[in-house]
Amino acid sequence: MARFTLPRDIYYGPGAINELKNLKGHKKAMLLTGGSSMKKAGFLQKTEEVLKSAGMEVQLFEGIEPDPSIETVFRGAAAMREFQPDVIVAIGGGSPMDAAKAMWVFYEYPEKTFDDIKDPFTMPKLRQKAIFVAIPSTSGTASEVTAFSVITDYSTNIKYPLADFEITPDIAVLDTDIPLTMPKTLTAHTGMDALTHAIEAYVATARSDFSDPLAMKAISDIYDSLLDSYHGDVEARGKMHIAQCLAGMAFSNALLGIAHSLAHKTGAVFEIPHGCCNAILLPAVIQYNSKVCMERYAQIARAIGLPGSTDKQLVNSLVDSIKAMNKKLGIAQTYQENGVSEELFNANVDKIAENAVKDPCTGSNPRAIDVENMKKVLTCAFTGEDVTF
Ligand code: NDP
Ligand code: MN
Repeated sequence: MARFTLPRDIYYGPGAINELKNLKGHKKAMLLTGGSSMKKAGFLQKTEEVLKSAGMEVQLFEGIEPDPSIETVFRGAAAMREFQPDVIVAIGGGSPMDAAKAMWVFYEYPEKTFDDIKDPFTMPKLRQKAIFVAIPSTSGTASEVTAFSVITDYSTNIKYPLADFEITPDIAVLDTDIPLTMPKTLTAHTGMDALTHAIEAYVATARSDFSDPLAMKAISDIYDSLLDSYHGDVEARGKMHIAQCLAGMAFSNALLGIAHSLAHKTGAVFEIPHGCCNAILLPAVIQYNSKVCMERYAQIARAIGLPGSTDKQLVNSLVDSIKAMNKKLGIAQTYQENGVSEELFNANVDKIAENAVKDPCTGSNPRAIDVENMKKVLTCAFTGEDVTF
């Protein structure tokens, strides 16, 4: 059966947080966030006030770290069991939103273990105790509309993308005032994460007539606005916030590909932010996949006005334009240029390739891949060589 699932409501625009006053009939809200960015900017307090004005008792859970761990998830679930919220509100980047989603599962099902829900589409029925509201502060992961939660097992340095439409939030709030406080590097990395979502979704095996227009619109809006957003243009920041969400709607349903499989397995080992990994990997992955879906990439290139008369030329233009975008965003093109030493790379490349093949995102990649080819793609992303096999 084919299925397309999105949150029930999306509030958007400047000051959209205020719309949470519409949440009626709830008693207790747990408000979760990352480190200090949302408090410093006053958005945490503002959200707390709006929830209180809607008649709710509010408890804060702060300090969710970037790339959240299994331990943090269990700590949060225990705090939820103690407080018994009927609304869970996560405000912040992908990390606090993802952690809160996984906490929600273990709040509702305390007897479940991480292994029980690790495989895609194995989650129990949620919303027995609480609904979920997500307020993104970065413009990249789109966790506010997706069926994913990425949790890191630091004992093995593996990132697990948990996946199930059960954890698609009920309400997403895209308050375009919030991403205005992002520093430049975060804007660049999260923006390239969003572009990777849209491009991978457009060629993924689970793509559909529902996901294609969302992915394509996201790609063209990201090409239009990411550089201006990076340079601090307020309107472009707002446009990026919406565009990354469109990309999220697409990939939550169309799924992703091996740029994400490799990003999930290299991020923790090489200590490089998720979006930056994707930015490095995307050109090599397009080259690898173009053997089977050149025409889809050519459609993208044509839609954004890149030069070329044959599909091959158009795909080359797409790859070149991504490299040029990385450069303008201050992102080095290879893992090597991002400070990964040859020793570190060689010590991990086999394991990473093996784990990346097993990542759930590999299943929806347009071209099949084995460990040997995964290793070759990763090596090209390390050295900057073109993928020609
Ligand atoms: P994070 O949530 O990890 O946040 C990174 C840093 O940015 C933190 O230090 C945070 O500070 C800071 N920050 C966040 N928002 C702002 C802001 N508006 N102004 C200033 N600083 C800010 O970043 P991402 O959003 O990139 O999330 C990455 C995570 O999401 C990864 O774990 C990745 O694997 C996952 N992911 C999830 C997907 C999904 O579908 N669920 C898809 C793609 C990636 P502070 O902690 O102080 O708030
Ligand atoms: Mn991503």
